Amino acid sequence: MNRPVPQTLSPSSMGAFTSCPLAFRFSYVQRLPEPPSAPASKGTLVHRALERLLDRPASDRTIDAALEDLTVAAKELADHPEFSGLALSETELAQFHADAAVLVHKYFEIEDPRTVKPIGLEIKLAAQLDKVTVRGIIDRLELDENGDLVITDYKTGNTPNERWEEKSLAGVHIYALLCEQNFGKRPVKVQLMYLSKPELIIATPTEGSIRAVVSKSGAIMDAVKRACSKDDFRPNESALCNFCSFKEFCPKFGGDPATAEIVLQERAAVAAGRPPLPLSTV
Ligand code: SF4
Repeated sequence: MNRPVPQTLSPSSMGAFTSCPLAFRFSYVQRLPEPPSAPASKGTLVHRALERLLDRPASDRTIDAALEDLTVAAKELADHPEFSGLALSETELAQFHADAAVLVHKYFEIEDPRTVKPIGLEIKLAAQLDKVTVRGIIDRLELDENGDLVITDYKTGNTPNERWEEKSLAGVHIYALLCEQNFGKRPVKVQLMYLSKPELIIATPTEGSIRAVVSKSGAIMDAVKRACSKDDFRPNESALCNFCSFKEFCPKFGGDPATAEIVLQERAAVAAGRPPLPLSTV
C-alpha cells in the first residue's frame, strides 16, 4: 500500500518527519484528529493577544492594553474546538488564563512593543523550490532602525536545550527563505522569542543558510515520497514521545498504528456530538 504524498511542507511538518516519521504519518499524511492540548491552546491565545497588541498604534502598546487584548482574544477563541474541547474545570481554566497573562507580562521584559515597527503580522507565505513547496506563517515581520527586515517568532513553551535549539533554528531559516522568496529581500535577523523564561535566540540568515534550507527541504521531500511509496514510516523514540498524541497507537509502546484512524475518528465524532462513522466509511 502506498500513501498520498503531502503537497507542501512547513517548518512543523519537516520537524515532525525528522523527529519521528510515524508521528508525521499520523499528523500530516493521515491527518488524524488530535485532542486539543492546553499548552498549544495557550500558545494560540498568547499569539492572538500579541497580534492585537502590535496592531495598535505604537503609543497604545502598554501592558494594560496587552492584558485587555488577552481578554478579547480569549472571548474570540472561546468557542473554537481547540479551546472548548479542553474541558477544563473552573479552577483549571482560571489557571490557564493566569498562565497566559504571565507570558504576556514576560513579553514586556524582553522588549518595549512601542519601539517595534511591524509591517506584517501572522503572514502566510509559500515558496516553490525545485523539489517542494514550502509554506509557513511568520508571526511578525518588522523593520529595524536601518530599514532592514527582521522576523520574530513567538514561542510559549520552554526554552529548548542545545539539541532542540538546533531544530528550532532550522525552522527559523525556513522563515528567512520564505521572506526572501516573497519579498525579494533577506531578513538580517530572525529571532525566536521564548516568553516563558523570557529569552531571545537570534539567528542571522546567510546565503549558505538559505542554500542549506533549500537542499534540506528537497531531501526531506524525497524521503517523505519514499516513505509514502512503501508506507514505511518508522517510529523514533525520543523525549518527544511524552507529548505525542499518538503514543497509544505506537508500536514502541505496545500500540497498533492500524487502529489509530478508526479510534481517533470515532472519538472526534463523539466529541463533536456526531454519531460515530460506520466502519466502512473510515
Ligand atoms: S510515541 Fe514517540 S515513537 Fe511513537 S509515534 Fe509518537 S513520537 Fe513517534
